Amino acid sequence: MTVLDLPPGALVVVIGAAGSGKSTLAARHFSSAKVLASDDYRAAVSGDAADQSVTGDAFDRLHADLERRMAAGELTVIDATNVQGWARRRLLAAAARHGRPAVALVLALPLEISLARNAARAERRVPPSAVRRQDRFLRASLPRLGEEGYDAVVVLNTPDQVERLEVRRIPGKTNVPKERHPTL
Ligand code: GDP
Ligand code: MG
Repeated sequence: MTVLDLPPGALVVVIGAAGSGKSTLAARHFSSAKVLASDDYRAAVSGDAADQSVTGDAFDRLHADLERRMAAGELTVIDATNVQGWARRRLLAAAARHGRPAVALVLALPLEISLARNAARAERRVPPSAVRRQDRFLRASLPRLGEEGYDAVVVLNTPDQVERLEVRRIPGKTNVPKERHPTL
């Protein structure tokens, strides 16, 4: 069993290609009010969760909400692919600004699983080439995720590991040394 311990006010950066199960995992372990999903912001901006042309606006709104939640010390889960370092750095910087712990929760399932799940769903399907590209970025990121400044990195490699993940809320200080986090 894999255990993810979450101190109060933590930032949870979910990382995974489209179809890897990010939204499903987030819904299973967290109430929806705690989950900021890029698809929801796209839908709010354009009426279409898959409309990639509004990505800039959507992420600006997501980051504004994240900033407020980190300032207030509210546990927050970011449901976006987050497969590129610059996207993760921007999230980590928000946690660091407010002295909040940050954890990475990585869905590193085999590419074939993400491709099959993406292809099988009716909505929010993205081109297979996008899933492949995201998977490449994810694999390239994995070796150095531990150096990005998270307080914990949990990598799930199989559906079984995803199934057996246990998320625990632990008491603890919310302030962590800022120098442990990258800033922008
Ligand atoms: P996301 O694109 O990473 O947010 O992935 P989703 O959570 O939307 O999941 C993509 C598809 O895979 C959906 O149709 C889910 O129902 C399905 N799915 C997600 N997690 C699991 C899982 O653990 N087992 C199975 N069998 N299907 C899953
Ligand atoms: Mg999703």
